[in-house]
Amino acid sequence: CGIVGYSGPQNSVGPIIEGLSRLEYRGYDSAGICLKINNELQIVKKEGKLDNLKALLNESKPFSNTGIGHTRWATHGAVTTDNAHPHGNEIFAVVHNGIIENAPSLKKDLIAEGFQFKSQTDSEVFLVLLTKFYKQTGNTLQSISKAFNLITGNSAFVITEKASDKLYAIKRSAPLVVGENKDNREAFVSSDPFALVGFAPRIYFPQDGVICEGVVTANDVTINFYELDLTPSSRYKFQANS
Ligand code: GLU
Repeated sequence: CGIVGYSGPQNSVGPIIEGLSRLEYRGYDSAGICLKINNELQIVKKEGKLDNLKALLNESKPFSNTGIGHTRWATHGAVTTDNAHPHGNEIFAVVHNGIIENAPSLKKDLIAEGFQFKSQTDSEVFLVLLTKFYKQTGNTLQSISKAFNLITGNSAFVITEKASDKLYAIKRSAPLVVGENKDNREAFVSSDPFALVGFAPRIYFPQDGVICEGVVTANDVTINFYELDLTPSSRYKFQANS
């Protein structure tokens, strides 16, 4: 339902929780966050109010330069902590808004191929597809392209990986915005520009099927856009966000 992601020099927890709080009015049933800490993807999630997640984070007080957060409005799978997003493994973590229409048949095939599932959501199918293609190609952009090509329905996905501090995002007929703060060397992603007001002065609206890649380096931040064949894309709109 709500998505906020951050990569930069600061602690991602603050902007992610603030952004998710701004989107609370839309309604949701669970909340979660994935933080990259000591080169591991660590997921904290809980059914119920965002306050439940905040309480868990107040206990552990994590610091992470790269994170993605989600508030879930369940469509596939009961309202449980296991079904809350992010969904992750030793390679990727994924948050998802929308519905993967052909998830049941994809899941059946993946299980037949030996892949295992930890939740009842349609969203985890995207994670497992990404993982399958990453094991074949070792290339994240290619894996996103291949996985996205297989799914039907209207969705927005944000992906983080163990291998880097990049933020990846892609959508079809669902809201998605990528943001940057050049002065602070920060990249953002959200389902709603409202979540990024005051954080990201520059925002980009990708069109359907454009892979967005937020890259923060020691002296810069860039947002790259790719078509599904991985050639550079200009199918996005820039907007000042204030
Ligand atoms: N279909 C997904 C689920 O049920 C995502 C729902 C949402 O948009 O929050 O977990």
